[in-house]
Amino acid sequence: MSFDSLGLSAELLRAVAEQGYSEPTPIQRQAIPVVLEGRDILAGAQTGTGKTAGFTLPLLQRLSASAPQGRGRRPVRALVLTPTRELAAQVGDSVATYGRHLPLKSTVIFGGVKINPQISRLRGGVDILVATPGRLLDHVGQKTLDLSQVEILVLDEADRMLDMGFIHDIRRILALLPGDRQNLLFSATFSSDIKRLADGLLDSPTLIEVARRNTAAESVSQVVHPVDRERKRELLSFLIGTNDWRQVLVFTRTKHGANRLAEQLGKDGISAAAIHGNKSQGARTRALADFKQGRVRVLVATDIAARGLDIDQLPHVVNFELPNVAEDYVHRIGRTGRAGNEGEALSLVCVDELKLLKDIERLLKRAIPREVIAGYEPDPSIRAEPIQNGRGARRPSGGNGKRHNHRASGNGNGRKRPAQGKSRRRPAQARPAG
Ligand code: AMP
Repeated sequence: MSFDSLGLSAELLRAVAEQGYSEPTPIQRQAIPVVLEGRDILAGAQTGTGKTAGFTLPLLQRLSASAPQGRGRRPVRALVLTPTRELAAQVGDSVATYGRHLPLKSTVIFGGVKINPQISRLRGGVDILVATPGRLLDHVGQKTLDLSQVEILVLDEADRMLDMGFIHDIRRILALLPGDRQNLLFSATFSSDIKRLADGLLDSPTLIEVARRNTAAESVSQVVHPVDRERKRELLSFLIGTNDWRQVLVFTRTKHGANRLAEQLGKDGISAAAIHGNKSQGARTRALADFKQGRVRVLVATDIAARGLDIDQLPHVVNFELPNVAEDYVHRIGRTGRAGNEGEALSLVCVDELKLLKDIERLLKRAIPREVIAGYEPDPSIRAEPIQNGRGARRPSGGNGKRHNHRASGNGNGRKRPAQGKSRRRPAQARPAG
């Protein structure tokens, strides 16, 4: 099936062709026609499925087809909310890329950077705004942003926004939007919180679920290397060195662990950078660019920081530590083997993590093969210890760090219709600081 049959305009088809996409992905096939019809959707899709183009393309088409309501400055007509700065930046890039042949203006706003340049861009008039919730509310508070003419709202990675504590911010934002609008909700998981949010937000939504790429994971080979806790770093350097890996994404559970590992790898002569929520936006952007361009071999990331990172064709993903939440394993390995490329996901697992490994295998409904590396055989006399998850509470990384904890009344949109959809519960475990 080609893109031509989805009902997209010539300008958008041209932009898609320029990206080199020959066929729509399953989420794009399902979402694009429905969004073009103006309907609400509830989509179960994670990063790597092509979901961004799935909402961006029809959104651009709808905006370009109708004249803005009202007079004066161009109002914001589409709002895309994302949990992290990185995802906001990437969605913003996609909007600019796919919309390059259309006369629409877009901008991205997130915290951690100066607000004044954002204010000037908003003042200039913007049709499509991509934003993280905290900074968006800062603009609302400063009266530099008017959301009263939004026609289309997208909540991207809604589950992650809730995980990061953005629910009150989201409700405050919903209260600022006109009731009559199209809503697109994307979430990798459907917890009861997501269902509640969807129930209040969506109007007879079409439910779209695409196969989770990595439960089948045909293109990703997975392996567990059992190893002692204290020898993981040594084994990682060994694997990178002997296999001559040039681009490896490594996951740790904590920010502190990410920093420490990047430093230690550096001492082993392997260039590495850490990316996590405590880094400034500039540092994160730089680390990602260095990694993409091959100046840094290893990017060490926490789960939250890694969400939404768009790195094409990543050959190797290493779980230096297993995640506390089994679902995060699926997200992590989703970073490799994209778009038909072969990928390899390795997990360095010590005795402390056997329970986490079991949870992951239960979720995947299969065992991951074990392969002990000669010279790194685990010492059977070492006992399991409780897993350290770092200090400190979770803090949203998308805004200014402030929490907006006061309640908004209802969802503010005056609509409430039942959502359809099966509930898929997330294991109720604690999450580490990201
Ligand atoms: P996303 O799930 O939106 O983060 O997209 C994942 C990756 O797939 C991005 O690198 C996109 O550029 C790429 N992509 C999106 N749509 C297609 C398509 N139809 N064919 C090939 N690659 C695509």
